[in-house]
Amino acid sequence: MSVESLKTHTVEAAWAQYDAVDAGPSGLNAFLAVDREGSLAAARASATSASTADLAGVPVAIKDNLATLTLPTTCGSRILEGYVSPYEATAVRKLRDAGAIVIGKTNMDEFAMGSSTENSAYGPTRNPVDRTRVPGGSSGGSAAAVAAGVVRLALGSETGGSVRQPAAFCGIVGVKPTYGRVSRFGLVAYASSLDHVGVFARNVHDAALGLEIIAGHDPYDATCASQPVPPLRESAVLLDRTQPLAGLVVGRPVEYFTDALDIRIRAHCDASLERLRALGAEVRDVSLPHTALAIPVYYVLAPAEASSNLARYDGVRYGLRANADGLREMYERTRSGGFGAEVTRRILLGTYVLSAGYYDAYYRRAQTVRTLITQDFERVFASGVHVLFTPTAPTPAFRIGEVSDPYDMYLSDIYTVTANLAGIPAMSQPIGLVDGLPVGGQFMAARFDETTMFKAAAALEHAMGMEIGA
Ligand code: GLN
Repeated sequence: MSVESLKTHTVEAAWAQYDAVDAGPSGLNAFLAVDREGSLAAARASATSASTADLAGVPVAIKDNLATLTLPTTCGSRILEGYVSPYEATAVRKLRDAGAIVIGKTNMDEFAMGSSTENSAYGPTRNPVDRTRVPGGSSGGSAAAVAAGVVRLALGSETGGSVRQPAAFCGIVGVKPTYGRVSRFGLVAYASSLDHVGVFARNVHDAALGLEIIAGHDPYDATCASQPVPPLRESAVLLDRTQPLAGLVVGRPVEYFTDALDIRIRAHCDASLERLRALGAEVRDVSLPHTALAIPVYYVLAPAEASSNLARYDGVRYGLRANADGLREMYERTRSGGFGAEVTRRILLGTYVLSAGYYDAYYRRAQTVRTLITQDFERVFASGVHVLFTPTAPTPAFRIGEVSDPYDMYLSDIYTVTANLAGIPAMSQPIGLVDGLPVGGQFMAARFDETTMFKAAAALEHAMGMEIGA
């Protein structure tokens, strides 16, 4: 539960655990690239320096869509196979500046498009809790690496739930900050108005610490906010252990508790709400009336932005280039050979909704509804509600290969895409088990109010006493 729990994990211990869990046919396949020698050398240097930095010597793992100087950044795609960035993502640099040691890059759905990590060009990641199941996605490699104890802190990214949903499936904590709280310099763009950098950890305090370290203004990212970063790690420390949430109003959005929700997950959410009451909070039913439109809106806007962002993979500027006689044929062969089926589907979908004649019917309308969804949240937070509590995902982790229809896969994001559309902070934490599989509960808060979110999450975590590996 403390900084020490993060700091007591060493690079040597990370490699021992990696060797035990990651490789081989039934291994997790959580990593796409690792730096064993470099990280061990950095660990030795850190030990001799006796640094007192927050993360001195702490092994961390980085999702493969965050640029790193020495290891490749492939985004789980063939089109970027072997690509090494000439610069480093700000979030990665900030972790290193705090003393952390990057041990490797983690597996992900190609270009972060997916909810299971099965869309990786380099094979799926397995869920450490049950290796026949997916770890969630798209940041499944980072979630699995933390859940399996290889690292205790990892970076992921979120466009529609890619940190929270895998955190829920793997039984760990995953945080998506406010849009603009963390620099996205060096995060490979998927849908820029929705993309965020997020963190995975095994408890609320470590997640808050990780976020505090990577947050803050960055002149290299024009969308990064200049708001000062509050002491987030302190917000996750419980001062009053009996009624820590006295005065806190927790909203229960009724639209998140419908028939789509597995009744066993619902029961765990109800039990958590009961715990929040016992901790002193007032629980209030609230309505976010446009919730049902979030998935259709997201799956118009995200592909539209993706179709534009992914135009840069043309065989000239980055990575793969196919042999061809002419330029046009080279583009076609590079892109159809380099992108997988889901990425191709999104590019086609996005190009379609942006095309003349359809722009107003799809893209503009989706933008309008996005504003309504954002206003739903603003209204609730303005009415005196401090945080919202919901399930993170409608089901526990499914089996590898079980969900084959893309639309069914999209539905696993129904409770998470809303926070990306509205730009508000949100997080998932373990709240129970269903048939031995982890269930995640989600807190959401008003823009830039991560402090209240962590306070509520830390109190619930304490009440549950179920930190993984504690
Ligand atoms: N599953 C969603 C998608 O495929 C969200 C992914 C993400 O957050 N990167 O777009």
